[in-house]
Amino acid sequence: MKHVYLDNASTTQLRKEVINEMTKVMNENFGNPSSTHHFGRDAKNVIELSRKSIAKNINCNAQEIIFTSCGTEANNFIILSSIRDLGVKRIITSKIEHHAVLHTVEVFEKQFGTKIDYVNILDDGTIDYNDLETLLSQEQNTLVSLMHVNNEIGTVLNLEKVAQLCKNYNAYFHTDTVQSIGKTRIDLSQIPIDFLVASAHKFHGPKGVGFAFIRKNIALKPILLGGEQEKGLRAGTESVHNIAGMAKALELSLENLETEKNNISELKKYLVEQLQLNFPEVHFAGNPDETFYNVINVILPFDTNKISMLLFQLDMNGVAVSRGSACQSGSVKPSHVLEAFLSHEELNKPNIRVSFSHYNSTEDIDYLIEVLKKI
Ligand code: PLP
Repeated sequence: MKHVYLDNASTTQLRKEVINEMTKVMNENFGNPSSTHHFGRDAKNVIELSRKSIAKNINCNAQEIIFTSCGTEANNFIILSSIRDLGVKRIITSKIEHHAVLHTVEVFEKQFGTKIDYVNILDDGTIDYNDLETLLSQEQNTLVSLMHVNNEIGTVLNLEKVAQLCKNYNAYFHTDTVQSIGKTRIDLSQIPIDFLVASAHKFHGPKGVGFAFIRKNIALKPILLGGEQEKGLRAGTESVHNIAGMAKALELSLENLETEKNNISELKKYLVEQLQLNFPEVHFAGNPDETFYNVINVILPFDTNKISMLLFQLDMNGVAVSRGSACQSGSVKPSHVLEAFLSHEELNKPNIRVSFSHYNSTEDIDYLIEVLKKI
């Protein structure tokens, strides 16, 4: 059976060079980076070279990068420490954030009494910047937590604009860039972002490793205790091979960015054309001309009763995509992201998220269309 992977917003295939780099580190640098003997020093050296490489690629200081086990941990760390250690009393976020932010702020609202304000989402799934400014103008000790690229619909936040608004109103700015790091250039020397979060497995690196960028002189405190690793900000023996793999993956993604971005953008255009040709009533959550180049959320003109079987049938035919709705106890619940801005009628239509990488081709899209036509 043919196998087609179109679920790259969930995770990505590792690059061969990344696997080679990780294998080399596992073979040659097994020491504990905290040990003072040369085995330890060699492993520590791998970590520090990786940190420098990542910092160079996003234009910040190496000391501003803290390695974590994943994007979720980095988001939790920044949000919790901002409330506990920076005196943040209010968080402005949105209903379309990843649960790594959304569920976290909901818990801290209960635990610490932090006020949570949700900025309006417009009909195309983008953030209402006027509403953000209105909220910011009620000056309180605020952390703004808004994601760069949305993982379900691909809407893109204007980082420069939000960072500037936060500066104007003395708010901290945290952005979850898990879906955009390695797929676009971010220059932290130009944009006054305070905190940023990334995860290696979204840019052809390994799972189980990510990082937090914390702007110099912002005094966060750790959530994991019991060791002095990462300048005391994240206890626990570092995953040396994963960190080296992440640095390699970021380096390669940015080296190949322009070529891969162009190819993937063409694939997305081709999918839109083919869908419109074969299913004239198709439409999209978010404007596909404006959303990020590697993701598209398709609302299919199929009957509601096809929702629960759609992903299963695609999978039976070897096609991997994601659904924007979660099946819970037999009933289909729309995703929290789509619920934030789609009409009731649109929410009742079957919906799939297709997300590309440079490993995809037009044949993959032809095959997806072929299978969809049979459903
Ligand atoms: N934030 C966003 C936007 C994501 O898409 C994801 C993963 O799907 C995460 C955070 C969580 O990252 P990780 O899998 O590294 O915990």
